Amino acid sequence: MKRPKFHVKKNDLVMVIAGKEKGKTGKVLTVLTKKNRVIVEKVNFIKRHTRPSAKNRQGGIIVKEGSIHISNVMLLCNKCNKPTRVGKKFLENGKKVRVCKKCGEIFPN
Ligand SMILES: [Zn+2]
Repeated sequence: MKRPKFHVKKNDLVMVIAGKEKGKTGKVLTVLTKKNRVIVEKVNFIKRHTRPSAKNRQGGIIVKEGSIHISNVMLLCNKCNKPTRVGKKFLENGKKVRVCKKCGEIFPN
């Protein structure tokens, strides 16, 4: 099975670079691999009407993050404080890491 490679993963800090949420930043909560979409913390809130359930006896409206297309987000570099492209680098121990193409800062994992 081949998994598509995305430029962002779960827990990455990203900036939205297109669409109505442009300019917002947040942490990636979920990557929806099959849909090429991501859910970013506090970005693209949507209202959803829910029926009463065991969890939520009242039902009603809940507000939660909606997914956005993965091409609309870019990894945010802590050092540059800007959205950036990601490069790859091998450490001395042979481990491959992701780096900021602008400043060379290493991203976690
Ligand atoms: Zn940087």
